[in-house]
Amino acid sequence: MTRAMLSLKPGLYVTATPIGNLGDMTYRAVDALKAADLILCEDTRHTAKLCAVYGIETERMAYHEHNAARMRPEIIKKLQDGARICLVSDAGTPLISDPGYKLVREARNAGIAVFPVPGPSAAIAALSAAGAPSDKFYFAGFPPVKRDARAAMFKKLAAIDATLVFYESGARLSASLTAMAQTFGDRRAVIAREITKLHEEFREDLLPALAAHYEKHSPKGEIVVLVFPPEKSIATQKDLDAFLRRALGEMSVKEAAATAAETLGIARKAAYARALAIKDEK
Ligand code: SAM
Repeated sequence: MTRAMLSLKPGLYVTATPIGNLGDMTYRAVDALKAADLILCEDTRHTAKLCAVYGIETERMAYHEHNAARMRPEIIKKLQDGARICLVSDAGTPLISDPGYKLVREARNAGIAVFPVPGPSAAIAALSAAGAPSDKFYFAGFPPVKRDARAAMFKKLAAIDATLVFYESGARLSASLTAMAQTFGDRRAVIAREITKLHEEFREDLLPALAAHYEKHSPKGEIVVLVFPPEKSIATQKDLDAFLRRALGEMSVKEAAATAAETLGIARKAAYARALAIKDEK
């Protein structure tokens, strides 16, 4: 196949790379990395392997969380002077639980063009094949390692009406799933492990069953956890009326409506209007 080599305009190219299978590199990413003046890498040794496979000989420089603050002014200066620079991470899309946000922000603030060179990302790859609801999702990144902070995070996320997407390591999966089961209860979830690699695995079950499984079988490799959204309320008007009639015997209209809304998972405003109507009937 013949392709025109990409000619790069000056600017920063946020370039996605494979999350396992090297065949997932896009033509455009290879062209951009070949044509750039410089590649900023999370780990130059890691990116060297990718470059060797694709015959990319562009100069490489480290840009990671430990040197980012020091490196940024120099990089912005190069971009202002017209350089074409690619930013890559070890795997997937930069900025997605990876370095790059501050660089992109500062480049844009300085009026420098920033171009996405899209490609793999573990969160999207997991969502695309897991069979979890994918119309709405919330990417939560890595849960905190400390128990209290993790529990507080899960509590905040519990009511979100969307599939929750987390990154996790094999070593911490069991503890995270146990904490998720405590907060999210009996929701379904999918563990997507080693996506695009030799030992790729998708395992779906209720959270408590997954927690029990991975407590016994400590998993190896990289993992995405997808937690299904909370079940939709199936409360009917009849359920609401029955609940409110009982509650109004013991509490005010406002309290009855708030309790009904919380218990039945319906809008407070609707519960309040119905509570008022029932009260007026009396
Ligand atoms: N920027 C990357 C992306 O776009 O997916 C994510 C980088 S983050 C530092 C690494 C985490 O992504 C891993 O700990 C794991 O949770 C997830 N991950 C990366 N590659 C994966 C794979 N092949 N299978 C499952 N999860 C993966």
